Amino acid sequence: MGLDKQAAEVVIIGGGFGGLEVAKGLKNVPVQVFLADRRNYHLFQPLLYQVATSVLSGEKIASPIRHVLRGYDNTTVVLAEIIGVDLESKIVYGSRAGRHFDYLVIATGLEQSYFGHDEFRANAPGLKSLDDAYEIRRRILIAFEEAEFEEDEASRQGKLTFVIVGGGPTGVELAGSIIETATKTLPSEFRHIDTSTARVILVDRGTRLLGGMPEEMGKRAMADLESMGVEIWLERGVTSVSEEGVFIGEEFVPAENVFWAAGVQGTALAGSLKVERDHMGRVMVGEDLSLPAHPEVFVIGDATYVVDPQTGNPVPAVAQGAIQMGQFVAQMIKDEVEGKGNARGVFQYKDKGSMATIGRGKALASINERTFSGLFGWLMWGVVHIMFLVGFRSKMVVMMDWVWNYLANERGARTITGDPELKVKEVRGIKMGDKKEKVRK
Ligand SMILES: Cc1cc2nc3c(=O)[nH]c(=O)nc-3n(C[C@H](O)[C@H](O)[C@H](O)COP(=O)(O)OP(=O)(O)OC[C@H]3O[C@@H](n4cnc5c(N)ncnc54)[C@H](O)[C@@H]3O)c2cc1C
Repeated sequence: MGLDKQAAEVVIIGGGFGGLEVAKGLKNVPVQVFLADRRNYHLFQPLLYQVATSVLSGEKIASPIRHVLRGYDNTTVVLAEIIGVDLESKIVYGSRAGRHFDYLVIATGLEQSYFGHDEFRANAPGLKSLDDAYEIRRRILIAFEEAEFEEDEASRQGKLTFVIVGGGPTGVELAGSIIETATKTLPSEFRHIDTSTARVILVDRGTRLLGGMPEEMGKRAMADLESMGVEIWLERGVTSVSEEGVFIGEEFVPAENVFWAAGVQGTALAGSLKVERDHMGRVMVGEDLSLPAHPEVFVIGDATYVVDPQTGNPVPAVAQGAIQMGQFVAQMIKDEVEGKGNARGVFQYKDKGSMATIGRGKALASINERTFSGLFGWLMWGVVHIMFLVGFRSKMVVMMDWVWNYLANERGARTITGDPELKVKEVRGIKMGDKKEKVRK
C-alpha cells in the first residue's frame, strides 16, 4: 500500500518494543504512519548487560528501525528527537520541524533515575542505552588492566572492587556476569594479579533481591550469587559516590567501579505534556491507554502508568507489557479508521512470567507460579530471549556467541575503544624516566 494523502496520520514517538508493535499492527491499514526515534535502532534492552560485560557486541542487540520496518509501505521512519507536543493543535515538534497527527502514540520508555542525586552519574553510570553499556564495559576492562600495572596494594584493591547499586534483574545480571568475568574468563590471561580476587558487591535498600518478582526467585538469586562469590548487602542505601569509592549507609567502601541499576523515571517529553503523572513521572492514562482529555493520544509501554483491571496491580514496566499495549492500540486505531469501532475496549495485561539470568548456564524463570532454575531455567531464558530478538541474523549470531561462551568460557567483545588512559598510583615494572609520565598518576 502506498502513501494516501487523505489517510489518517498516525505519529508514533519511540521505536522500542511498544512503538514498533503499533507500526507493525497498522500494516495494510489505510493510515499514514510516521515513527520517530532519536536513535536509528531498536534496542533489545534485556541483553544490554551482556554488552556491558563483553559477552555480545552492541550491534547484535540493536536493529536498524528502517530495516525492521522496510516491508511496511505505509510507514515512514524519521530519525529525530521529539521535543514537544501541542495537544490542542495536534502537532509534534522536533528541533527542525513539526508534524500534524490524527492519532499520536507516545512510547518513549523511561530514563535512569538517581533519586535526586544526579551528581552520582559521573562515577556511577547506569545501564539504559548502548552508550551506557559501552561505558560500563570500558570501565570493567580498564579496571583489570590498571590493576595488573598497580603496585600499590590498597589502590589495586579499589580497582578490583565493583559495586552494583540495585538488586533488581539488571543488578543481579550485572553482578553475576562481572564475577564470572573475574573468576572464569580472565584468570589465565593476567600475570601479576589474580583476577578472581575481585570483589563484587550488590547493594539494595530492600530486604531481598528481585523485589518485583516472586519471593522464591529472590531467595534463589541470592543463594546462587553468593555461591559464585558476590557479596550481597541488603537494607542499605548508597549515600555518596566518588572516584575513590562509595558510602553504603555509614560505611565507606574503596571501589573505583560503581554501576547504577537502581531506579527509573519518566522522560523529559512525558514531563512536558502537563498531564497527570505518578511519582516516577509515568503518564496516567485511561483503561484504553489514552489521555483522559485526548482520546486520540495514547501513551504505552514503560512511559505509562496503568492498573490492570483483573489484578488491580500496575502493569509492570517489562517488554511484554509494552508489546501487548502496542498491539492493543494498533487494533483500536485499525477498528476506528475502518469504521468497525464502537465502544473502546479495556487493556488487560497477560502476565507471561518473569526471568533473570544469574550466570553461565544458570537462570531463574517464574511461569504460572512455578519457579525454574539452573540449566533448565537458563535454557528457557535463552529460548524466550532469542524468540523476541528482532531479526533472523541477530537470533543466529547471538545463539552462536552463547554456545561458544558456554563451551569455552570466552567473551569475544572485549575491545577497549579510544585511547585508554591508565590511572595507576605506583607503576609496576622498570621505571622509564620521563616516559613514566605517559601513565597518568
Ligand atoms: C538493562 C535493562 C534490562 C531489561 N531487562 C528486561 C528483561 O529481562 N525482560 C523484560 O521484559 N524487560 C526488561 N527490561 C525492560 C524493557 O526493556 C522495557 O520494559 C521495554 O523496553 C519498554 O518498551 P518501550 O517501548 O516502552 O520503551 P523502550 O524500549 O525503552 O523504547 C523507547 C524508545 O523511545 C525513544 N525515545 C525516547 N524519547 C524520545 C524522544 N523524545 N524522541 C524520539 N525518540 C525517543 C528511545 O530512543 C527508544 O528507542 C529491561 C530494561 C533495561 C534497561
